[in-house]
Amino acid sequence: MRVRRLAPPVEVEPPRSGEDASDCVACGTPDDAYIWVSERWRVRAMDRPTGLPMVLILECRSHLDLGDLPNLLAAELGVMTVRLERAIRSLDGVARVHVNRWGDGSAHLHMWFLARPYGRLQLRGTFLSLWDDILPVIPEHQWRENLALVAAWLADFGGKANAEPAHIQWESPATINVPIPREDPDDGARPATLGDVEAAAATPGDFGVRDNDTPASAGPLAAEAYPNDPLP
Ligand SMILES: [Zn+2]
Repeated sequence: MRVRRLAPPVEVEPPRSGEDASDCVACGTPDDAYIWVSERWRVRAMDRPTGLPMVLILECRSHLDLGDLPNLLAAELGVMTVRLERAIRSLDGVARVHVNRWGDGSAHLHMWFLARPYGRLQLRGTFLSLWDDILPVIPEHQWRENLALVAAWLADFGGKANAEPAHIQWESPATINVPIPREDPDDGARPATLGDVEAAAATPGDFGVRDNDTPASAGPLAAEAYPNDPLP
């Protein structure tokens, strides 16, 4: 393992993805790609099970970034953040929900909600998103059930839940399954079981983290929408 050399600062930063609403991925994605939608907010899951018990993204419908929100949306963002944190924390095996907004990749506001599994003290803190890349993914039926529970929780307060319980197959629409070339940690890098993780932990320096700032579990859409989100 080598320490990466610090690059010199650029004179002018490149534009983020979707600076213009006309080519914004979030604005162009239909409601059925989201697990829950309302008049002004939408909640999206990854396109496949994650290493963490739950990873979700909250977006406003309007093409705005955090600092541009009018007071109504700013106030609702607080309510939505608390509501979603509670919903995710209510899932079995979740100790804590970390809420993050990086915003270096996509211009459209998107808040990350990452659930830390209960008892996994090693996962505490700012490296949680990297652990999501390394841990074996949770079983798909459990992932779908968790999505349905969170969507139903949100729908209790309004809006519409799209994620159905596990016995009804909820599919991400084909539009978000556009493959994009990237190094895929699932091609052998991600351990299949927690036992493998513990075995790998015994190997110094073998951390399995990709040189790519997008969470692997974020899938093609997230990789496209948020290509350069710096994760801690
Ligand atoms: Zn947008």
